[in-house]
Amino acid sequence: MEEHKENIQAKDVNVKMSNTREKVEKAKPCSRICPDEESAPQGSPSQSNSDFSHPVYKEIALANGHINRMSKEELRIKLAELQLDTRGVKDVMKKRLKSHYKRQKLLQSASEGGPTDTYYDYICVVDFEATCEEDNPSDFHHEIIEFPMVLINTHTLQIQVDSFQAYVKPELNPELSDFCVKLTGITQKMVDEAELFPAVLQQVVTWLQERELGTTYKYAILTDGAWDMSKFLNIQCRLSRIRYPQFAKKWINIRKSYGNFYKVPRTQTKLSTMLEKLGLKYEGRPHSGLDDSRNIARIALRMLQDGCQLRVNERIHAGQLLSVPSSAPVEGAPAPHSPRSRD
Ligand code: AMP
Ligand code: MG
Repeated sequence: MEEHKENIQAKDVNVKMSNTREKVEKAKPCSRICPDEESAPQGSPSQSNSDFSHPVYKEIALANGHINRMSKEELRIKLAELQLDTRGVKDVMKKRLKSHYKRQKLLQSASEGGPTDTYYDYICVVDFEATCEEDNPSDFHHEIIEFPMVLINTHTLQIQVDSFQAYVKPELNPELSDFCVKLTGITQKMVDEAELFPAVLQQVVTWLQERELGTTYKYAILTDGAWDMSKFLNIQCRLSRIRYPQFAKKWINIRKSYGNFYKVPRTQTKLSTMLEKLGLKYEGRPHSGLDDSRNIARIALRMLQDGCQLRVNERIHAGQLLSVPSSAPVEGAPAPHSPRSRD
């Protein structure tokens, strides 16, 4: 199933590297020490005090060197001693231990006015479900039928309990295929009783506004792959004759972040594989948008705990999917606004 999603993604989406330079930050000079990639700051919001030359990075680099020489058993013992998770493959354990020391050192450094490492206050996980057919004919127009959101508090490193979920009534193909019902667990009755997409998007906006996201709090949207935004939301907005929402124009593609952080190829970034490699099991019903979102959130949480600074890495512009380079400055998503008509 996931491979299917991956394949259609690769086929349908026109990925281009962004060559927008106006916002691209100049690379920091490597003055006193050149820390390895894992000890280096990943472009923190408080860039001004995230300089490679800060002595904290030398300490982190030394700790990393030591961890690189540890055996799997030594890693397990150390993690257990520190009351950290001991699950996962050796590389995951290594990363977790390095991140623990890095976080400790950066926390200490932050309290002394040195570098810090948090980008967003909240990460908002979204995983749409859409109408589909068994082999999705090439001219098939997917319509969103479930809009779930799960919030992660990056400071407490917890998933918020008040997640959002709404089913959506499809307009173009109001009858769900048997395949779609079986795949998603979404019944005809659920969508018949649901509101149309613009009304659901308004509920989403209100929910985000109530949580002061984009105003008091800095947040970013996170998805499993590029397809949710660049394909499902993009198509849906056209079908519903509304403008693509500004707040969803940039997002974190967790597959990309996971691959870069744990240094694994894209073939190992399917939802089930990411969970498995982290020593986690899928909880709930696969292809339920809310359960998928929760499981994606569990991966994101583990990555944050392992010290990954999840940051926006993709965006949509004029209907095209683009990469956001890691050198771009970190900005939170803008405050959400009510859907606007395309006309
Ligand atoms: P997922 O997030 O993996 O549950 O997939 C999102 C949407 O992609 C589903 O609601 C379907 O519309 C479509 N999809 C996923 N897997 C398949 C599949 N095997 N065949 C057809 N459509 C699929
Ligand atoms: Mg899903």
